[in-house]
Amino acid sequence: MKMPLALHDPSLLRNQCYLGGAFVGEPVEPVDNPATGEELARVPALDAKAATAAVEAAAQAFKPWSRRLAKERSSILRRWFDLLIANRDDLALILTSEQGKPLAEALGEIDYAASYVEFYAEEAKRVSGETLPSHRVDGRIMVLRQPTGVVAAITPWNFPAAMITRKVAPAIAVGCTVVVKPAPETPLTALAIAELAHRAGLPAGVLNVITGPAAPIGEVFTSHPAVRVVGFTGSTAVGKLLMRQAAGTVKKVALELGGNAPFIVFDDADLDAAVEGAIAAKFRNMGQTCVCANRIYVQRPVERAFVTKLAAAMERLKVGNGLDAGTTQGPLITSRAVEKVEAHIADALAKGAVVHMGGRRHSLGGTFFEPTLMTGITQDMTVAREETFGPLAPVFAFDTEDEVVAMANDTEFGLAGYFYSRDIGRIFRVAEELEYGMVGINSGLISTELAPFGGIKESGNSREGSHHGVEEFLEKKYLFVGGI
Ligand code: NAD
Repeated sequence: MKMPLALHDPSLLRNQCYLGGAFVGEPVEPVDNPATGEELARVPALDAKAATAAVEAAAQAFKPWSRRLAKERSSILRRWFDLLIANRDDLALILTSEQGKPLAEALGEIDYAASYVEFYAEEAKRVSGETLPSHRVDGRIMVLRQPTGVVAAITPWNFPAAMITRKVAPAIAVGCTVVVKPAPETPLTALAIAELAHRAGLPAGVLNVITGPAAPIGEVFTSHPAVRVVGFTGSTAVGKLLMRQAAGTVKKVALELGGNAPFIVFDDADLDAAVEGAIAAKFRNMGQTCVCANRIYVQRPVERAFVTKLAAAMERLKVGNGLDAGTTQGPLITSRAVEKVEAHIADALAKGAVVHMGGRRHSLGGTFFEPTLMTGITQDMTVAREETFGPLAPVFAFDTEDEVVAMANDTEFGLAGYFYSRDIGRIFRVAEELEYGMVGINSGLISTELAPFGGIKESGNSREGSHHGVEEFLEKKYLFVGGI
């Protein structure tokens, strides 16, 4: 096994799964660095039997964990948060090495991931039930909120740390126990996070992280009777499959799925601010975020000025290895991701769009791609319908507010939308009309642990972050006390 990472604490690079409080499994599946193609480490390929063992370890840990005082759970989460922050440099180095994003973004993701652990360490102590007016004078109605049970979580590669803590922290804060299956591209960050949870004193079985083939593990997660919640972040197609599979045992299925975010620039907008927002919303993580601006709509009178300014800002993007100073754009995750960007560009070109900038694989080779700007995009192009998940900024022109709202909503997705305007009436009208779970107004960055993150329509049915983020992991139990 190669060990190319200069970690302060090399023992954070785990190559075994975390199951029942121990690191187990034979490391066989290679994990490669997308910037160099180099093998970083190997991790186990656990089967359905091991997934069942992990669910059972979580089930066994559930009662004692849920009976602990909220304050005790909170203290362990707080220690975990402190360890994540103390080890942020190492975690970011592991993250960039297996995922590709620039180191500065990886550090930002570790802080963001840790912020959920901090928030839910605090929230653990604030979960409360209620009493309601009774229908009888000799009776009382109370509602308890109790932890749901074992949570099975499946997470994607684009945010290898944050997509895990956003589910795990609220779940264990309220007394649930969890089994996580991270994406095969990025298991090392997940295992390093688990190692730190172990060091923080999380009891055996409360958190389990297993790697291996997705389909058999997914089958166990969606059919094992002990699993009460399936939490999934990833593509809409896999989310639908898991929802179908979970129907057999009527589990809660909390889905955070794909997006197709509109980014609208009205003619009254501050164009410089809109360009800055577009760069952040489009090119962060090389365009591989679920809330990435996928369709940029610009009102016709300002289209030329906006495109000129956006092109100038894009000139400053620097493609390279995420570990090199100054890099703003790392490699895409796989060659399949590159092919998807190429297909969207080719389709748009064939239907009359124009490439202003980029449009090709980068001269660095591998999965590096040039930041690309296209204009003349229309609703009949593939890019209007599907998430590109890459560094392509497609600009559509529009005339009226009603027209752009209709175009923005003309999709089965409903995760994030953005718009720029300085007209207060328009801000309320458009914000209320956009069919999205999240709307960024005069901002291209909206993610925070303090707000409920999630989508509507085929983008999902769940919310992560804020006090809303514990809801998936709590049951309501109604008590009627008679004879009073
Ligand atoms: P993906 O759906 O291919 O994979 C996500 C996870 O599901 C991985 O761990 C994968 O191994 C697993 N998986 C795949 N097939 C499975 C099966 N049959 N059974 C069980 N598990 C299975 O998605 P991806 O390519 O890793 O991630 C990108 C997608 O995730 C994009 O659509 C993006 O928009 C979405 N995403 C959404 C959010 C959100 O919060 N809404 C956040 C990040 C990413």
